[in-house]
Order: sequence, then C-alpha cells, then structure tokens
Amino acid sequence: MSALRPPIVVAGAGPAGSLLSIYLARQGHDVTVYEGRADLRTTDVDAGRSINLALATRGIVPLVDVGAIERVDEITIPMRGRMIHAENDPTPELQPYGSQPHEVIHSVSRRDLNAILLDTAEATGRVRIEFGRRLEAVDFDTSTLTFQDGSSEPFGVVFGCDGAGSPVRKAIEVAGSCTARTEWLDHDYKELTLPPDGDGSHRLDPHALHIWPRGELMLIALANPTGDFTVTLFAPKAVFADLIDADAVEAFFTDEFPDFAALVPDLTDQFAHNPTGPLGTLHVDGWSHRDQAIVLGDAAHAIVPFHGQGMNAAMESARSLAAHLAATPDDLAGAFQRYETSRKPDADAIARMALDNYIEMRAGVVDPDYVARRALALELERRHPTHLSPRYNMVMFSTMPYAEAHRRAARQSEIIGDALADPGVDIDSLVRGLPPLPPLDALADPEALSVS
Ligand SMILES: Cc1cc2nc3c(=O)[nH]c(=O)nc-3n(C[C@H](O)[C@H](O)[C@H](O)COP(=O)(O)OP(=O)(O)OC[C@H]3O[C@@H](n4cnc5c(N)ncnc54)[C@H](O)[C@@H]3O)c2cc1C
Repeated sequence: MSALRPPIVVAGAGPAGSLLSIYLARQGHDVTVYEGRADLRTTDVDAGRSINLALATRGIVPLVDVGAIERVDEITIPMRGRMIHAENDPTPELQPYGSQPHEVIHSVSRRDLNAILLDTAEATGRVRIEFGRRLEAVDFDTSTLTFQDGSSEPFGVVFGCDGAGSPVRKAIEVAGSCTARTEWLDHDYKELTLPPDGDGSHRLDPHALHIWPRGELMLIALANPTGDFTVTLFAPKAVFADLIDADAVEAFFTDEFPDFAALVPDLTDQFAHNPTGPLGTLHVDGWSHRDQAIVLGDAAHAIVPFHGQGMNAAMESARSLAAHLAATPDDLAGAFQRYETSRKPDADAIARMALDNYIEMRAGVVDPDYVARRALALELERRHPTHLSPRYNMVMFSTMPYAEAHRRAARQSEIIGDALADPGVDIDSLVRGLPPLPPLDALADPEALSVS
C-alpha cells in the first residue's frame, strides 16, 4: 500500500484536469499540471472552434465544492427547454425540460469555464500549470514523462486528464493494464455561428436549446452572452460528403433549414472554413496502472455529445476520484481500483444514454408517440415527485448514479408504455410501487446557478 507520491502530475488542463488539481490541492498536495496547448486565458487557442456547452447538475456540484460557482453564474445562460423547429412549421414550439424551477440547463462558453477553473486552481497556491508542455510518453519503469519537445520530467503519480487521445491511457495500455476501443459513429459534426441582430441582440430565444430535427440529421443552437449562437450540424458522413461546394451547401440549408439559412449571410463561407469533426464512444477497461497512473474524463470515457454530459461526467468523475483518494489516502492503488469499480457502470450507462438521445433529438421530439410518452412522464412526475422523474431529468438535474438512472428509466418506460397501450392500467399504483427516488445530494444545490 502506498500514498500519493510526489511529484504529483496532472496531464491536461481541460475541465477534468483543472478541477482535479483543485481537489488535490485542497487535500494538501502540491500539483504540477502539464497542458499541451497555450494558456487559453491569454491566447486564442480555440480559433474557429468557439464551442459552448450545456452545464447541468453534475458539473454544477463540483463548481459549488471548489467555490467557483459565483464566477460561473456570471457567464451562463439558463435554457428552460428544447425549442423545436419542426419541418414545414414556421412556429417553433418549446418543450420544457420540467416543471420545477431548477430544471434548466446552462449554456456556457467552454473557454470561459475552463479559464475560471484554471484561475481557481492557481489561487490554491499549490497548483503550478505549465502550458505548451505536450506529453508524448510515460515510462513506468523509470517514472519519467517525455514531452513532444524532447524534454522529460519525473513523476510519482500521473493523472491522465488528457482527453480522448490520451497518451497516459496509451501507456497504461502498453503496460498491459487496460484495453481501449473507440466505437465511431457514422455521423460527423460541424460548428457554425448564427450572428447577433443588428442591435446586438439574440435572433432567437436565448433561453432554450434550439433543435431542428430532421430524422437522420439535426441542427442545434445554444446562445452565447455575446448575442450570437453556436450552432452545430450533426449528420451522416454521406451527407457531409455530398456538400462539396457552395452551391451544394446553399441548396442543402435552404431545403432543410430555410429559417436558419435566412439568418446567416456567410453560411457557405463558414461551412467551407470550419472543421468537420468525428463522433465516437471510447470504451476503456482498466483505468489505472498500479499506484502510478489513472485516466479520467474523456481520457477514460469519451462519449457522443447528444446528452450534453461529456464535460459534466468528466467533472463528476474528478469529484468521485477525489473522494476515493480522501477515503483511503494510504492505499492509492486500492483507491484507483475502487473508483473504477464504482464509476465504470456509470460511464457505460451514460455512453448508452447519450447514443439513445441522438435518436430522441433528431427524430423523437417530433414523433407523436415520443411526445405522448414525455407528456405522461412529466405529468406522473408532477403527481408522484418522490417516485418518478423522466430519464432526461434524472441525468441532467440529479446526481443519481447514471447506472441507476438508466435502470429506473427502463422500468418507467415499461410502465408508461403499458399505460398508453391500455387506458385501464392503474398507472398511479404502478408508479407508487417504484422505489422512492433518492433525495437530492445536499451539495447538489439545484438553485446554485441563476435560472432567469
Ligand atoms: C460538439 C461537442 C459538443 C459537446 N457538448 C457538450 C455539452 O453540451 N455538455 C457537456 O457536458 N459536454 C459536451 N461535450 C463533451 C465535452 O467537450 C468533453 O466531454 C469534455 O471537454 C471532457 O473534458 P476533459 O477535461 O476530460 O477533456 P478535454 O476537454 O479534451 O481536455 C483535455 C485537455 O488535455 C490537453 N491535452 C491533450 N493531449 C495532451 C497531451 N498530450 N499533453 C498535455 N495536454 C494534453 C488538451 O489540450 C485539453 O486541455 C461536447 C463535445 C463535443 C465534441
């Protein structure tokens, strides 16, 4: 058995790495973070890729923990539901996420959120962040990290928060402690910007997540405080392959999304210049190597973005790993194992639910059967708030383990299906027969962020 041995290293200063370094510092450790890119607080490292994200309860809870929530509150925009832009229907329709005031998600700039976490980490006085240090390899025999520029550093333990392409994970794999496989989706994505109106205001309601569902493909839009929206097209690779020139792009958007196309004068230029990205689910068995290394966040469980949970899950993982380290500080390898045993079923469950949510978003939301199921689920939540919560709400507005949310959702779905098929079913007694929902985590203050 061994405790955390210095030098304690975190690879990657994204949401998972910067947050984990804060937890480690609060446990009294000195930490060095090696980040491959330049400091995003002083350099435009994301030029042409201004992604904003949906922040929800599992990301909010750690921000409350580490005292960063007030600054984050200043940069978020609450979204109360999905605004559905159905085909051939000029009037968008709001589908609220829930009936409770806290049942909103929050649009936030990835860069600005990350910057707050970097500031918070440095403010502990125990975290040193070295930018422009791209890790290339990890040698477990000599406890040495090698960087792309040829330099090297010693380590006692390394936390791999270095994203889906993680060199730390690759080293664990080479050492024989893990297997990893990426399940690629046959769909890609591309980000676009819907500019503000002439007076700087938003051209669409900023307090909703806009979706243009089109069966096999969809467009979504999240508002930024600057008056613009970050818009993402998700579509089969074959669709992207056909969009070979400006005429094809213009015809595609005019045909599929005429209301959106009319709002973006430089659409074809943006489409030509912005990168197209792949989408995949990373399945990793074996997250750690002895007491020397562990991966977390996207490095261990990258998922497709359709539930808006990748970053929320990464932050929840950092919180969970920190709790395991605090529980058995003298048994590092054991803490790593216990963390993986408890967290892996949750990572698998959210990976599954994120894939399912793609179908729900691009097709389900305009399917009458889905709409009827969702309406009944919300009504049952209203009637039995201690026993039933729709799946989306358990994932987004609670800290219930993802695996439990997945199991409960399957049972709820059966009950709702039975009731819709047979009006004679006594649905209220079936719902009362479900085990009570766990109370909200005391720290999961659902009203930590402004909701209006
Ligand atoms: C289109 C899209 C939309 C998304 N929307 C949402 C959403 O709405 N809500 C949500 O919760 N999640 C969303 N996600 C997922 C989210 O972006 C990720 O899950 C999240 O960023 C994971 O955080 P991380 O810290 O684990 O990894 P990353 O954010 O990938 O951070 C890894 C860090 O490590 C650094 N790094 C990489 N390699 C090295 C190296 N070799 N050496 C040193 N440093 C290195 C990187 O520069 C980066 O700073 C979305 C993803 C995509 C693609």
